Amino acid sequence: MNVYKFGGASVKDAEGVKNLFKIINTQRENLIIVVSAMGKMTDALEILCNSYYGKTGETAQAFQNIKDFHEQIIRDLFGAADQDIRSRIEALYEELETILNSEPSLCYDYEYDRIICFGELLSTTIVSTYLEKQGRKVKFIDIRKCLITDQNYRNACVNPDLSAQLCRKTFTFQDTFMYITQGFIAGTTTNQTTTLGREGSDYTAAILANMLNAEDVTIWKDVPGIMNADPKLYENTEIISKLSYKEAIELSNCGAKVIHPKTIKPLQNKGIPLYVRSFLYPESHGSVIRELDEKLKLPPIYIDKGDQLLLTLSPRDFSFIAEEKLSRIFATLAKYRLRLNLMQNSAITFSFCIDNNEAIFENFINELHDEYEVLYNKNVRLLTIRHYNEEVIERLTHDKHILVEQRSRLTARFVVSDN
Ligand code: ASP
Ligand code: MG
Repeated sequence: MNVYKFGGASVKDAEGVKNLFKIINTQRENLIIVVSAMGKMTDALEILCNSYYGKTGETAQAFQNIKDFHEQIIRDLFGAADQDIRSRIEALYEELETILNSEPSLCYDYEYDRIICFGELLSTTIVSTYLEKQGRKVKFIDIRKCLITDQNYRNACVNPDLSAQLCRKTFTFQDTFMYITQGFIAGTTTNQTTTLGREGSDYTAAILANMLNAEDVTIWKDVPGIMNADPKLYENTEIISKLSYKEAIELSNCGAKVIHPKTIKPLQNKGIPLYVRSFLYPESHGSVIRELDEKLKLPPIYIDKGDQLLLTLSPRDFSFIAEEKLSRIFATLAKYRLRLNLMQNSAITFSFCIDNNEAIFENFINELHDEYEVLYNKNVRLLTIRHYNEEVIERLTHDKHILVEQRSRLTARFVVSDN
């Protein structure tokens, strides 16, 4: 059995859905198709959720934008008169409307998950109906019934035993050899919707593959494979055709966007290869991540994370930054769901880099202000070079101002600002 994951970019319009059909149509083996929300619909649903929760009066407009976007795709795929797809989509809109017409609870994260899930529910409904119309027998699964998590809304943790049991009962491949289901979303034992963290569909594909002992997972993307740098930022990039699990974990942890950081572990545990291939050029091989024991020679790989904040905390009382202080700083970071992209400490300072997030920045800083003097640089970039050499470092940093530098045997990292 194989698992194919199609992200938002691959199904951002009717052409994308038709292309998905072409790709799966060549498949002769058992297959699970995992699909994300179409295009940027998760962002659009975040806007909807915020206006509903914050009662800003823009809820109707935000909902209409989401409907318009899907309407265009539905028309292009099915024409204006197809009742089947209309009634399925209307049922979802009604469900969402009922939520939007009710009073929000006090828990933002809970409201977020029960609204945001409609991106994936709509996309899988549209794609599966389209595949059926093309004559494919494909079974639609609501993943919330079998991928079970705790109640940590927006960043839920999967219950592996219960989920494996339910998924094995669901994906039996007895009366069909093709299933379609949602990435990113899941459910609790009490039927509440949860999500696995933004961009979490890769992770869904990996967990399903692990639980159901898939042969491999393929993530279909708009890039030709795993590149040694973002082709939008650098010239002369190259595809890395083979990577070990360990290298892939390091890269995604340093901010490489090609795969979600949590994706690799479930695959590595079962030795399941992960292919990254282009949905635009499905005939080309792309990259594979798998167990590789040879010391594979890799070219320098650059990861350039823009829009970073560099903060430096120093205790106001000039005490040292010791374990107890660090644990409080970490707890505050966790409370705001801020991920440390890089950290460095000295006796009396603690510096770290996080993604810039205007919405929570002030509150976060205010919490630290009593105890620490807080200095920060906005608009810095975090540059990571795996398998570095001096020539590459010089080339990438000579015109930059280096604020922090860290080197280990394989990795050099720099927090830089433009000169
Ligand atoms: N649709 C979700 C997001 O945009 C999950 C995903 O695409 O992986 O975050
Ligand atoms: Mg997405």
